[in-house]
Amino acid sequence: MARTFAGGVIAFVIAFLASGSAQQKPIDDAALRAPDARNQDWLSYGRDYHEQRFSPLDQINDRNASQLGLAWQFETATDRGLEATPLVIDGVMYTTGSWSVTYAIDARTGKQMWKYDPEVHRKYDNLACCDVVNRGAAIYKGKVYVGVLDGRLVALDMKTGKPAWTATTVDQAQAYTITGAPRIANGKVIIGNGGAEYGVRGYVSAYDAETGKLAWRFYTVPGDPSKPQENKALEKALPTWKGDNWFKYGGGGTVWDSIVYDPELNLLYVGTGNGSSWNRHLRSPGGGDNLYLCSILAINPDNGELVWHYQTTPGDTWDFTSVQPMMLADLPIGGRTRKVIMQAPKNGFFYVLDRATGELLSADKYVEVNWASHVDMATGRPVEIPGADYKDKGTYIRPGPLGGHNWQAMSFSPKTGLVYIPAQDNGRYYEASKMFSYTPLEYNLGLEPIGRNMEKYDIPYKGRLLAWDPVARKPRWTVEYGGYWNGGTLATAGNLVFQGTALGDFIAFNATTGEKLWSGYAGTGIVAPPVTYSIDGKQYVSVMAGWGGAFPKKFRSYGRILTFAIGGTATPITRTAPRRVTAIANNATPDQITAGAKLFASYCVRCHGGATVLPDLRRSAPTVLNSLDKILDGAMVERGMPRFAEFDKTMIAGLRGYLLEERRKLATSR
Ligand code: CA
Repeated sequence: MARTFAGGVIAFVIAFLASGSAQQKPIDDAALRAPDARNQDWLSYGRDYHEQRFSPLDQINDRNASQLGLAWQFETATDRGLEATPLVIDGVMYTTGSWSVTYAIDARTGKQMWKYDPEVHRKYDNLACCDVVNRGAAIYKGKVYVGVLDGRLVALDMKTGKPAWTATTVDQAQAYTITGAPRIANGKVIIGNGGAEYGVRGYVSAYDAETGKLAWRFYTVPGDPSKPQENKALEKALPTWKGDNWFKYGGGGTVWDSIVYDPELNLLYVGTGNGSSWNRHLRSPGGGDNLYLCSILAINPDNGELVWHYQTTPGDTWDFTSVQPMMLADLPIGGRTRKVIMQAPKNGFFYVLDRATGELLSADKYVEVNWASHVDMATGRPVEIPGADYKDKGTYIRPGPLGGHNWQAMSFSPKTGLVYIPAQDNGRYYEASKMFSYTPLEYNLGLEPIGRNMEKYDIPYKGRLLAWDPVARKPRWTVEYGGYWNGGTLATAGNLVFQGTALGDFIAFNATTGEKLWSGYAGTGIVAPPVTYSIDGKQYVSVMAGWGGAFPKKFRSYGRILTFAIGGTATPITRTAPRRVTAIANNATPDQITAGAKLFASYCVRCHGGATVLPDLRRSAPTVLNSLDKILDGAMVERGMPRFAEFDKTMIAGLRGYLLEERRKLATSR
């Protein structure tokens, strides 16, 4: 009895000391460099400086995941995409939503503590290529840092949400936007921006975390070719560009997502984006690699000087950005342990580089790729397939501009040795613009509009969870989804991988085998990556739900944060059974219906095919089906439905006939 009592006292004292000491310590450089001392928290974008999105928490594991239940939900009252990674520190969740709104929430109960709205002008809806999203905040020494869509960087007091300082990081007369999360490196806040579709010059900036003063800025592409460049790295890059169109168009190379700090080597790794324009023959007539587009850059975070670079797609012409999430790991390669950086950029190859030197260690196709046969390990360059650059003739390229993998974070489990990639198959017909002229603040891709010539091709829009072995350089297992444009992933020491899907399912998989162990329902599509944390010894898993981003831009979603725990007792979100439809009289001929089926397969299926959450046209109101002419002519562009100008009366009659026939089948099915 006494022994039990004494043991209880000791356990209580230890628990008290552990929680008390953790709550007193600020998030400073020492805390960010020792994440193991704060296993209960999610300290920074990728959990810690390795950005592996691996949590050592294992209370929720492959044996009890089936008992997960909803602990709480928080309604953001937004209807656009939610992409953020919540940070959780000392029981408080700090996260961001549509229009860069920032929230502090009690991570145990879901009650809001404060909210900061930077009141972004709504004109930015048309200046953000890929929705009014925000991927998260950074925390350092009592402040929460958030990049705002209109180019501001704001430091908020962690306790109150009141701004401490604001820096304007861009020329707001240009089409710059910020959607990415800031990172912290040695007392500096690092932030990039987007806008290369419209035409801007890309760069990454470092601000003093305390004062908001600009410390340095590194431009990723050269400036005015008639003048001296800002630094040696850009002088070296200048001869890789031809003519001066690129300078008029902005050049591109924007740093809109991945930035990783490596305190061991004191290097800052930065992913750069596509060129302005996409079409390299317009941007740089006569060729050239166009450094430093579509590259991984290693920068000295103290002075902003380039240390090494690796260009994944020299002379990119397909929007194959290299901004996709990067992670650091120590891997056994070639008989020794290598300090590596890993990335699965849009172009379809999975890269492993030595992160001290930038040496290419491997590059392997992780999805269907038809623009390059392989990456030549001697030169480190992809070997392009003739004709893939659509210089003389349009061609169909896989992956397309949405990428084999996009910003949706991947995760890595040191326990399984596997990288969990939200991979996807897609493609695009690339055809050089015949009448290109640069127009400021508008899309300047240099391509003919999408939609033309599509009926020649069978478009494979499919998403999957891919467990990739970066040492063996091959997949270990995959899970195929009906939907496309799914969420980021989380790996845990409980031998679990979590991922949300476009169709609103939040799923736990066995990290070793890929077996599905549990699924919760979000009631809305998920694109954000989940996180996990622990409060007073209880583990939670949390994810933001709200479908949006480049693919379903301007799609009306329903924003909420869902948090699950073992035995969670909050009322789960229920699936509502789709209502019955009734058939509508159809006077289309069988030939018209067959022609309409082909058109549906060519133009409509990738959004309306039932594998995504966009409207099922069989269930559309009769007024919609009777207004197809106006809708295809752009009547619903503001709601995200593109204009398809090439549809004539015959095509519309066929499409309508096909949809009515499909509706009849649905109405009469059981
Ligand atoms: Ca792009």
